[in-house]
Amino acid sequence: MNLFDLTKSLMSIPSVSGDEEAVGFYLRDHLQSLGWTVELQAVSENQNNVIATLNDTPRVWLSTHMDTVPPFIPPTEDDEKIYGRGACDAKGIIAAQIMAAEQLRKEGITDVGLLYNVEEERSSTGAKVVNNHPLAAKCEYMINGEPTDNDLAIGSKGTFRLNIKTSGKAAHSAYPEEGDSAIEKLLDILEDIRHTKFPHDDFFGETTVNIGTIDGGTALNVIPPKAEAGLAIRLTTKRAPIEEAVRSLVRGRGDLEILSCSEPVRMLQVDGFKQKVVRFTTDIPHMPNWGTPLLLGPGSILVAHTKDEFVLKKDLETAVQLYVDLVKKLLN
Ligand SMILES: [Zn+2]
Repeated sequence: MNLFDLTKSLMSIPSVSGDEEAVGFYLRDHLQSLGWTVELQAVSENQNNVIATLNDTPRVWLSTHMDTVPPFIPPTEDDEKIYGRGACDAKGIIAAQIMAAEQLRKEGITDVGLLYNVEEERSSTGAKVVNNHPLAAKCEYMINGEPTDNDLAIGSKGTFRLNIKTSGKAAHSAYPEEGDSAIEKLLDILEDIRHTKFPHDDFFGETTVNIGTIDGGTALNVIPPKAEAGLAIRLTTKRAPIEEAVRSLVRGRGDLEILSCSEPVRMLQVDGFKQKVVRFTTDIPHMPNWGTPLLLGPGSILVAHTKDEFVLKKDLETAVQLYVDLVKKLLN
């Protein structure tokens, strides 16, 4: 099967996070038919990471994730592009990595493993589970794939997700002095956050804050007793100073609920590749046992997660060659 057909075959199997079982079975069968040894590692009852090898202890691994964001969008194509869910994030990447590994194998290089995780788009539980796999100890370099426009990402920002919750006292809205508005407290806190300058890092860039959700109140004529806002902070420093800054901004007016955190990561720089820092987070921070991380993949993060997701066919082809070159460089 050629690169584009493999991309489209993978894309035609829906695998929104939580529903990766079928695409995992497909990958197992495909890789076994090519002669790979394949292990399905259970992450939950119907979610399995796919781990494929040609020898007992590969030193370099190619990896990405099998899940996608919703909704499923079946693949279509024209001469230049493949469109649909997973085109670049990340089924085109899986296809490019498999083609690269097969090309290396034709040249006699079998020191390469393939790892495909579940749940990257939600909680990275696939990565967290595979981090303890025994093969991790033998891995020297992990080339993770996410859409980087085929540039080598040498850093990725972290993500710190939290809720801010406020509470007050419900009362008849005509008698505000009898109540205490949780929404007004929350608005004050959010206003302070919007006017806070969070740290800039020379390597990683700006710390940015998205107030992504806001919720509260019961009715127009009731002083709201409860409110909350959800924030995603793109970290360019360790989490601790940012958490401390948010706590001091909230200052007893509300409570913090920490949802998740991944720290910013520096990745290997390799001569001869175009390099950049990316703002998004990957599975890499959750797989520290898998050697030195690298990050590269075809397609643009700006179309990933959108209804217009696509990948250029020539970028998929370029990615195959880049993965081949990178693996060879790392093995030498
Ligand atoms: Zn992705």
